[in-house]
Amino acid sequence: MPARVAILGIYHETNTFVEDMLLLKDFHCAKGEEIRKMFADAHHEIGGVYEVFDKEDIEIVEIFFADATPGGKISAETYHILLNELLLGLKRNLPLNGCILIGHGAAVSESIDDIDGHWFHCVRELLGNDIPLIATLDPHANVSAQMVSATNALIAYKTNPHIDQRDTGKRAAHLMVNTLKGLISPVQFLLELPLSISIEQQCTYLEPCKGLYALAQRINDQYGTVCINIFLGFPYADVAEMGSSLVVVTDSNLDHAKDIAYQIKSEMCRHPDAYSGYKITAMEAIAMTAHAIRPVLFLDMGDNIGGGSPGNSTILLRLLSTYKKYRFFICIYDPEVVKEAAKYSRGSVFTITINEFKNKEDNYTCEVKMIRTGDGKFKEDKPVHGGKIQFDMGHIAIVETAGTSIILFTSLRTPPFSLKQLTQFDIQPHDFDIIVAKGVNAPLATYSKVCPSVVQVDTPGVTQADATRFAYKKRKKPMFPFESIEECYAAVI
Ligand SMILES: [Zn+2]
Repeated sequence: MPARVAILGIYHETNTFVEDMLLLKDFHCAKGEEIRKMFADAHHEIGGVYEVFDKEDIEIVEIFFADATPGGKISAETYHILLNELLLGLKRNLPLNGCILIGHGAAVSESIDDIDGHWFHCVRELLGNDIPLIATLDPHANVSAQMVSATNALIAYKTNPHIDQRDTGKRAAHLMVNTLKGLISPVQFLLELPLSISIEQQCTYLEPCKGLYALAQRINDQYGTVCINIFLGFPYADVAEMGSSLVVVTDSNLDHAKDIAYQIKSEMCRHPDAYSGYKITAMEAIAMTAHAIRPVLFLDMGDNIGGGSPGNSTILLRLLSTYKKYRFFICIYDPEVVKEAAKYSRGSVFTITINEFKNKEDNYTCEVKMIRTGDGKFKEDKPVHGGKIQFDMGHIAIVETAGTSIILFTSLRTPPFSLKQLTQFDIQPHDFDIIVAKGVNAPLATYSKVCPSVVQVDTPGVTQADATRFAYKKRKKPMFPFESIEECYAAVI
């Protein structure tokens, strides 16, 4: 009899500083065979799980998977519905021999700060302690003790931008196969660090993360651990678990896991200020453009859609329009402008007010020339950050400003993960001096191929670079950079 292993998940990165609550309509939910259809070929952890399990004597039991674009807290009612759906699906499919849990690790609801820990725990309660539960997580997880105690092993992506999601699923699936065969008995140790890493410093192919991940790999190769997870954390969540952490998984040797975690901690916390970032202002970024090889990619940190921001900030648009010197491309989420623009034909000149009904303090009125409107669905050839291939911007409008720069308006929030967002409309990056992308690390996977220069711009917003500007009520203390290195020293060493 093949082992029956379930795949299930609730996946969200929650920015608790965003005012709007996430509702059921914001989630994409899939059940049963739909999950295979959506993810088997995708660059997604679920795709990796299929790739491994399909070659093994395993019966895959697809239960339920829900995910949503990063945003505000999930409403209590929405989480209740999602959780019920997931647990009902599990109950209907008992007995099971194992479960692969697909979480993000930074989901927060209106009433529960640690959603991932909560649903992992509910699954454990339902299935008992003898069934292996292996969870995949995003390295932006704010890991809780509950996530660790409810599972046999956590397996995180090792890259940011996240280009190893499918591999992560494969690693989790292999571990499940070996656990079910009795070849391995995973145990894990969580070490929370008194360090909040700025999003600006979280790219894994640049220092300091490059060296940190290389160190973890060396230690892993030397000691043959099952997995060394580095969690960079998600600073935009006012929860007790916010911050970076390490989870080391070994084959039934908890002391060994603990030793390794402390070894990496001492290395990582030797120079905590290396994780703080540079905080380049918009004016500095414009000044840097004069000497940079173009196009220059301006990463609008404060309006990072992948971190939960709305994607409608006009700060850089206003500044670049006033400055006039550079031709730029910017994409802005504003369904009302898209609707208004649909009234005009190609070549018409008209006036728009961005954020007219949404964000009064960030209103911007300008005269534009219509280029085109249309359907914003597109498909990537290759998987990009987030594992997606299909994208939907809703209806779109493309207009030209008085300075011949281009604004693409979308009616659905669309993170800048794919260049097709521009090129499908024959907008070519090399025609611009500056490309504004509303992200920080994720856009690098594709945009850095066409933008020789990259500047992370410290703009205001709910994903601003400097987390010390937020008013936290629940975070751990002391934690660098909120408290001084000296104050954290005892905890750091
Ligand atoms: Zn992430």
